[in-house]
Amino acid sequence: AALESDAQGVGRKIVAALGEPFSVMGQEVHIGASVGMAFFPDHSSEAERLIKLADLAMYRAKQSGRNQTVAYSEALEARQEHLLDLENELRRGIEEREFLLWYQPQVDLSDGRIVGAEALLRWQHPRRGLLTPAEFIPLAEESRLIVPLGEWVLNETCRQAAAWPSGSLSVAVNLSAWQLHKRSLVKTVDAALAASGLAPGRLELEITETVAMRNAALTLEMLKDFAAKGLRLALDDFGQGYSSLAYLKEFPVHSIKLDQAFVAGLPSSAKDKAIVLAVLALCRSLGLRCLAEGVETAEQARFLLAAGCPQAQGYYFARPMDGPAFERLLKSGRSLP
Ligand code: C2E
Ligand code: CA
Ligand code: CA
Repeated sequence: AALESDAQGVGRKIVAALGEPFSVMGQEVHIGASVGMAFFPDHSSEAERLIKLADLAMYRAKQSGRNQTVAYSEALEARQEHLLDLENELRRGIEEREFLLWYQPQVDLSDGRIVGAEALLRWQHPRRGLLTPAEFIPLAEESRLIVPLGEWVLNETCRQAAAWPSGSLSVAVNLSAWQLHKRSLVKTVDAALAASGLAPGRLELEITETVAMRNAALTLEMLKDFAAKGLRLALDDFGQGYSSLAYLKEFPVHSIKLDQAFVAGLPSSAKDKAIVLAVLALCRSLGLRCLAEGVETAEQARFLLAAGCPQAQGYYFARPMDGPAFERLLKSGRSLP
């Protein structure tokens, strides 16, 4: 135990030293470090095995966010094995095409007309049944499988939306941080639009505020490229991050999606009311469209309409539904609810 705490101390020193910015040819460079540790002879007396276990611990350190020091344990090894199993499942699921897109209508609050839809990913797992994103997106992000999965989402959404009976609806796709950190996203989006024939102006990309943090320059460059091609950009879960306003200033954003946490308190919570009104005023002065998420009651819809919010999405209007159900809804020409 003394050995371990000594080693932890050394690990923390290394992490702290490498966490300092340093200068390379006049450029300030920021890097980080992740430290994994295994102990002789407790964990193994073979050098090769010790290195393997330290590597496993380092992998865990990386997953828990950078700049961490993690020591090997049996529980950690079991957890990694479990994650590896899940990851293989996910890989298999992608190959076997077990993923589906569901759609949730977005409506004009003044008349309930459907103006667009958000594509929401589902996994039709052969044994576990229909899985929602909460059950597999975190793992897909951790394993970076979200990149090929996200590419499938983009292609499939564009293909389906191009065939919808009302040819002017917008369709929103959620992007993960990892997709926005690879230049190949530009090609992926271009290819999805070209293959489907969907007008770029009908595709909306939803990003969250945490998304752009790691490689802000590349992300910004790609977002500007998308905007120049006529795509729309929505800031998702607005109000949840800590730098929402900075993002609004920096990114070529067309709309914001007011987080459901603020909508939930309407109209009884004075604080939620104040926040919602302030966000709407902000949108008006910046010329942004506001869409309220998670609208569950008629009272919430009424309040938002009276407050000048143009669009909404939520269980009150419709729950997410599979593609065929959404097309039937469009064909019926119904307004919601
Ligand atoms: P999100 O983008 O904030 O999507 C809205 C979520 O709120 C959806 O959950 C939707 O079913 C749910 N929702 C809609 N209306 C209501 C309501 O009135 N009340 C309540 N309580 N909930 C409502 P879902 O489909 O489980 O998706 C969860 C999250 O998974 C999404 O949150 C999004 O961040 C992520 N996600 C979904 N599809 C994709 C995808 O294709 N790619 C990526 N990267 N993430 C995705
Ligand atoms: Ca979203
Ligand atoms: Ca959201």
